[in-house]
Amino acid sequence: MPELKDPNASPGRRQLLSAAWRLASLGVLSPSLLPAAFAQQSGGGSAVGGPPPPVPVTPGTWLVMLGTRGGPGVDLVRSQTASAVVVDGRPYLVDCGYGTVRQLVASNVGYLNVSQVFLTHLHDDHTSDLAAMLSFQWTNSKASGTDVYGPHGTGRLVDAAVGFFKPNVEIRSVDEGRTNRPEDLYHGHDVAAQATPVVVFKDDRVTVTAIENAHYPARSTAKMAHRSLALRFDSKNRSIVFSGDTAYSENLVKLARGADLFVCEIMDETIHEQMQARSKAAAAAGNPDNIFRHVAETHSPPADVARMASEAKVKTLVLNHLLPGPSAPNGLAYPLSTFIDAVRKGYGGEVIVGQDLLVL
Ligand SMILES: [Zn+2]
Ligand SMILES: [Zn+2]
Repeated sequence: MPELKDPNASPGRRQLLSAAWRLASLGVLSPSLLPAAFAQQSGGGSAVGGPPPPVPVTPGTWLVMLGTRGGPGVDLVRSQTASAVVVDGRPYLVDCGYGTVRQLVASNVGYLNVSQVFLTHLHDDHTSDLAAMLSFQWTNSKASGTDVYGPHGTGRLVDAAVGFFKPNVEIRSVDEGRTNRPEDLYHGHDVAAQATPVVVFKDDRVTVTAIENAHYPARSTAKMAHRSLALRFDSKNRSIVFSGDTAYSENLVKLARGADLFVCEIMDETIHEQMQARSKAAAAAGNPDNIFRHVAETHSPPADVARMASEAKVKTLVLNHLLPGPSAPNGLAYPLSTFIDAVRKGYGGEVIVGQDLLVL
């Protein structure tokens, strides 16, 4: 067993990890969005004593990693998958796994400023905090709407999220005199998954492009309309690509070509081998469609991550959706160096292991 060390703890990385000032100075929190009565407990991330002071917007394009845990387990070390791309102070949320609302507050991005959400796919470790976020946006009086873009089923998902907090709306409409209807504010948009990049969103700061990745095998897509996406964000000064959950994908290589940051999922090789062995055993016992096969065949071991990063010639590889997920705070139950060492065998660029609340 190699010595346990945090590969991100070099002085350069430490600077990134401890960049609390950077989180605070992203300036995405707009106090004007915070009704005074709710400022303390709403999207700002202030501790106690009223709304946080306004902070200047930091220009540029930033990746804020909110949750870096792989898979649907829940632990207290890493939050489930979510990231924010922040362009000149405006946040664009990518995935919304369990814990995202808290992480938006912890990062100072806040959840009341989120008006665009992009879902890579509809597994619950990427969606489960969406209903909570939209509900609290409504209850905490966010005046503008929120649009959610994702693969087939996203419109239905958002309608169901609104349905989930409908009783809350009924009660507060009667009891607090509220008139906003969530159906008018929150909309889901199904994005067609294709083998060539398709523009799904564009505003004055960013263009978002999607392509179908390889998270669902052909045997599954033959039986369902659900698809899984990789996403690319291009601003005037930076490009950031999210693999989503995926096995090796030629489409993803196409989408990620030359990107500044390639945020890619990764499954440790030992786990990969364990899943393959357990899948074989389950198949031999008469259950070929088992969860072990799903994990082994629909995620990326280090060699595949390195291959995609290398083929796409990305400048920096950021590892995300880590399988196994947890590592102990202030010490590593699982040596992150195994991820980084394995990836470096096939990729010569900069490699960063994602951490919750890391800003790049
Ligand atoms: Zn996942
Ligand atoms: Zn998934």
